[in-house]
Order: sequence, then structure tokens, then C-alpha cells
Amino acid sequence: MKVKQSDIKILFSEDQLTTRIKEIAAEMNSFYKGEEICVICVLKGAVMFTTELVKHLDMPLTMEFIRLSSYGHSTSTSGKVNAVEIKLPDLNGKNVLIVEDIVDTGLTAKFLLDFIKCNFHTKSTKFAALLDKKIFRRTDIEPDYYGFEIDDKFVVGYGLDYDGFYRNLKFIGYADKSLLEN
Ligand code: 5GP
Repeated sequence: MKVKQSDIKILFSEDQLTTRIKEIAAEMNSFYKGEEICVICVLKGAVMFTTELVKHLDMPLTMEFIRLSSYGHSTSTSGKVNAVEIKLPDLNGKNVLIVEDIVDTGLTAKFLLDFIKCNFHTKSTKFAALLDKKIFRRTDIEPDYYGFEIDDKFVVGYGLDYDGFYRNLKFIGYADKSLLEN
């Protein structure tokens, strides 16, 4: 069943999101000090975060897009990360910034960070997530940059989906799991 948009409660408004993303970009600008970076957007969930973030980055940058999946049609992770599509250029000697929508168990981030480490000798590898859901963490992964910490909620909007829907919402919100899984 699709939950009506009016049943989705706002957790972070569009203004809160853009304000926080500008702050993260400012931190990155002062860290990288104009050095070139390669931004890797983890599709599909991080698409809105990444596009808003890069607007406020002032160093030369390239963008790559990769796809992984662990959720399927559920509101809890399968615990297994599938590499749906990872095609990356030569990242040796580059500053790499991985951008995810949300870090939950940390399995996706760990998979990616290990993948980069095994395949390239980067100059630096950093990991940013718009949301940090710490309570279900199953790895020792912590994002280098994050927007907001959240508790045990399944969130949608601003790129995040449930069963492919709600990615277009301007805000991040949540509906009761019972409504979503009905
Ligand atoms: P992890 O591998 O850290 O457990 O999960 C990472 C991925 O799970 C995220 O990139 C995201 O696609 C999905 N995910 C985790 N929590 C949520 C959530 O609350 N809502 C949505 N829509 N996806 C989530």
C-alpha cells in the first residue's frame, strides 16, 4: 500500500536540509583547500543530497555514480550488499569523497570503502552521509561528514525511497512502519 503524502510526518524540512548541506560543504571546502576531488554518489538514494552538496563545493571536481542495494522491498536491511553497478575511473592518487544518503548498519559504506581500498591507492578517501542512524550499526564505520543523526525510524524523501516511491519529496519524513508494510 502507498502511504498518502499527508501521512508522512516531516522530520527535516527543505530549509533545514539545505542549510545543513551548506554547512557540510563549507567544512569540505576548508578541508580540501581547493584540491581536486572525485565525488562518488551512491545511487539512487544519495542523488538529491549529492546534487545539492556539489552546488556549494568550490574545488574542481568530477562526479561518478554507482549503484548498490541492500533493502529490496523492506524497511530493514537484508544485511547483504549487492554491487549492482560499480564502474569507476582510475582513482589512484585522487581525493575520493563517497556520498551516501544514510548510514544505518554501515555495511554499504564498509563494502564501498573496502572496495576503494582494495582497488586504488587514493590520496584520501572520505565518506559523507546525509543521515546517521547509529542504533543498528553493525560495523565500526563512522561517516567523516554527516547531516543529522536519527533514531529508529524508516525515513523517506529527498532521494530516499520506500519500494521506489517518495524519492521526490522535498523534505525527509517518516510514516509508521505498519502503514508502509501493510
Ligand atoms: P546500511 O548498509 O548502512 O545498513 O544501509 C545503507 C542503505 O540502506 C542506505 O544507503 C539506504 O539506501 C538504506 N536505508 C537505511 N535506512 C533507511 C531508511 O530509514 N530509509 C530508507 N529509505 N532507506 C534506508
